[in-house]
Amino acid sequence: MNPEAYAAKRLKGVEMSAIRLISDRARALRAQGHEVALFSMGEPDFDTPAPIKEAAKRKIDENRTHYTSNRGAAPLRAAIAERILEDTGVRYDPENEILLTCGGAEAINNGLAAFLDAGDEAIVLAPAFVSYRNGIRLCGAAPVEVALRPEAGFPVCEEDLEAAVTERTKRIVLNNPSNPAGTVLSVRSLEAVRRVAMRHDLLVFSDEIYSRLVYEGTCTSIASLPGMRERTLMMNGFSKTYAMTGWRVGYLAYPAWMDGLLLRVHQYSTTTGVTFLQEALAESMNRPDTLAAAERMRAAFDARRRLAMALLDEIPALRYIRPQGAFYILIDVRGTGMDGGQFARRALEEAHVALVPAASFGGDCAGFVRMSYAAGEEEIRAGLARLKDWLDAKRRDSHVG
Ligand code: PLP
Repeated sequence: MNPEAYAAKRLKGVEMSAIRLISDRARALRAQGHEVALFSMGEPDFDTPAPIKEAAKRKIDENRTHYTSNRGAAPLRAAIAERILEDTGVRYDPENEILLTCGGAEAINNGLAAFLDAGDEAIVLAPAFVSYRNGIRLCGAAPVEVALRPEAGFPVCEEDLEAAVTERTKRIVLNNPSNPAGTVLSVRSLEAVRRVAMRHDLLVFSDEIYSRLVYEGTCTSIASLPGMRERTLMMNGFSKTYAMTGWRVGYLAYPAWMDGLLLRVHQYSTTTGVTFLQEALAESMNRPDTLAAAERMRAAFDARRRLAMALLDEIPALRYIRPQGAFYILIDVRGTGMDGGQFARRALEEAHVALVPAASFGGDCAGFVRMSYAAGEEEIRAGLARLKDWLDAKRRDSHVG
């Protein structure tokens, strides 16, 4: 059977993730006995904080294993509303303005599916996490990329954004702090987005999953700007801040008018999340010892960020965009004579360093690769030392040649 003959038309253009392909190849090299630095995965290498694990075990023993409300367990919605208020200053009603989802991934997909039809357009500030453009295509809609300038902070140019708006535009998608750039949008950039959204009556989808992983300056939620709470769908989750990628808990926070729309999609996708996890998180997420554990991880990521920048500073052919948040650095490889795709391929095969070509995130990033420093310090030292030796050797060879 030819799968393409049976495939939904919406699947056309939906891509397999380059990140997975690279990481799979890196693991295959490891299985052959090579030491490989895995800088390709956006996944904390830390363990989930103990209070969360203890609470989850207890909830299973208490048989908290039945369906919970469609919106998700009420005590967790209340705990999340408390955290959002403290972190962003925006108040959400846990009763009808917060929806718990299976990971950030479900939050993204529901947040797109409830508002986009075939023929609609959604603007994506790029470079951007790959799920947005593919999720938009899964709705039958078209992603329209607005490339941000590859410079400090990846500022938003209001004219570029304005020029991308058409009669079919329904929303703007942004990610702050950014995967893949590790940069944080300034209030000035957010104001530019706000003005365009207000002028054209657009909704904003704001993925803030890295909002608690900020090392320089502060990260402002666009929902906190005047008039924006009413038109912003904020997404966040537990995967990154609490090192819980395998637990699959995320959430959406939004104005009450969106509630019925989102519930209808959620009801017929996953119905509810996992009861004992949600109840365990309700008890443990805001505990001082849990928050202290999350802060220790944040501090460790910051130390790794500084280490990675210091080691990259010693590699003359490479430059980078100074990261302020998340756990990514965009490295400019044009000084090596390669583009990001060639560099990533050869670095993996020849130096055993797994990086992701930044072109896979869209935007003007063909000359960049993304490095994730969620790997351990030793791996960062060893991987960047191999990268340096490999580039030194290449330079010597080309001089000899
Ligand atoms: N949003 C961004 C920007 C991400 O980088 C990721 C994961 O890498 C997600 C959302 C998805 O998170 P989750 O693992 O909770 O589905």
